[in-house]
Amino acid sequence: ALTIGIVGLPNVGKSTLFNALTKNTVLAENYPFATIEPNVGVVNLPDPRLQQLAEVFHSERIVPATVSFVDIAGIVRGASEGEGLGNQFLANIREADAIAQVVRGFDDSDIVHVDGRVDPAGDMETINTELILADLQTLEKAITRYEKEVRGKKLEPVVLETASAAREWLDSGQPLSASSIDLAPLRELGLLTAKPFIYVFNVDEGVLTDPARKEALAALVAPAQAVFLDAKIESELIDLDPADAAELLESTGQEESGLDQLARVGFDTLGLQTYLTAGPKESRAWTIGKGWTAPQAAGVIHTDFQKGFIKAEVISFADLLEAGSVAEARSRGKARVEGKDYVMQDGDVVEFRFNV
Ligand code: GDP
Repeated sequence: ALTIGIVGLPNVGKSTLFNALTKNTVLAENYPFATIEPNVGVVNLPDPRLQQLAEVFHSERIVPATVSFVDIAGIVRGASEGEGLGNQFLANIREADAIAQVVRGFDDSDIVHVDGRVDPAGDMETINTELILADLQTLEKAITRYEKEVRGKKLEPVVLETASAAREWLDSGQPLSASSIDLAPLRELGLLTAKPFIYVFNVDEGVLTDPARKEALAALVAPAQAVFLDAKIESELIDLDPADAAELLESTGQEESGLDQLARVGFDTLGLQTYLTAGPKESRAWTIGKGWTAPQAAGVIHTDFQKGFIKAEVISFADLLEAGSVAEARSRGKARVEGKDYVMQDGDVVEFRFNV
C-alpha cells in the first residue's frame, strides 16, 4: 500500500495527529479481516461520487479509497549524527512514498518549544537540514560500497555516477526533489529528500479562520502543498458522531476535517487517482496511478484480472449519473468498450471482462 511518513520536531503535535489517524475506524469497518498494524493510520479519501453511485446501484455499502500513514519520526537538531533516536526513526520512514512534515503554528506557553519560540520557517529549516544531512550520510556509505562493486564489475557505473551527482547536489543545501537528477538508479536507498513532501501546519483557531495567515504560511512551502489543521480538534472530532463533528468543524471555520484534507492532498501529491466499480454489493473506489492502462487498473482488483484482461466497459461518472442507469447509458451510446491500451481517467466507472 502507498504510505506517508510523518516527521517533525518534538512537541509540534505529531503524536496527537497520529492518534487521531490511528483511531480512525475505517479499516475495521471495511476490511474486517485485515490486520491493522499499530503504527499505521488509515484515512478514507473523501469522495462524494461514491454515495451517488451507491444510490444508482442500490449498493449495500461504500468502500472508499484510503491513504495510509506510517510511523512518526521525531527529529531534533543533530538527529542525522545519531543524537537521540533520530537515526533509527529516520530509518523507519525510508520506505514511505511521501513525507508529511508537521510544523507547529499554535501558541501555548504551557507547551515547551524545543528551540524556545514558535517559528514555523525556522523549524522547517531545521528539519529539512537534518533530512539533507541524513541523505548525505546514506550516500557516503553507499558510494564507498558502490566504488568497490563498480571496480569488481558487479554494478553499473551509472549507479555510482548518480550517487556522486546526488551528493554534490545535497552539498549545496537543496533537497533532491528540487534537482533534475534522474534518481531511479538509487531507489533502494530510500533517500528522504527525494520523496514528495506535504506540510501540515498544526495551528490554532485564530489561524484556521484567517485566510491571510494561512496564505502566508502556504507561501513558505510552495510549490509543496500545505494542510492546516488543529491536531487537538482532530483528536476530538474522531470521537464525535457526524452531526456533532460537522458542528465543531463549522465553529472553527472549516468545511472539511484536517484528516480529510490530508488524505486528499496526500493522494494528489503521490500522483494517484481513482476509478470506480459499482453493483448491488458495493460501490467502490480503487487507487491507481495517473496514466495507468486498463489492464494495470484491473490488476489492482486481482492479478488474474490483469493477466486475463479482455476488455473493459467504461462509463464516465458524469455520464452515468446523468443517464441514471447502466442500461440507459448504454442506449445513449455513453458506454465505451475499451481495450488493453486504454488509459484510465479519474472517475471512470468500469466493468472488466477477463479470462480465468
Ligand atoms: P509530538 O512530540 O510532536 O508528538 O507532540 P505531541 O502530539 O505529543 O504534542 C505535544 C503537546 O502539545 C501535547 O501536550 C499536546 O496536547 C499539545 N498539542 C498538540 N497539538 C496542539 C494544538 O493544536 N494546540 C495546542 N494548544 N496544543 C497542542
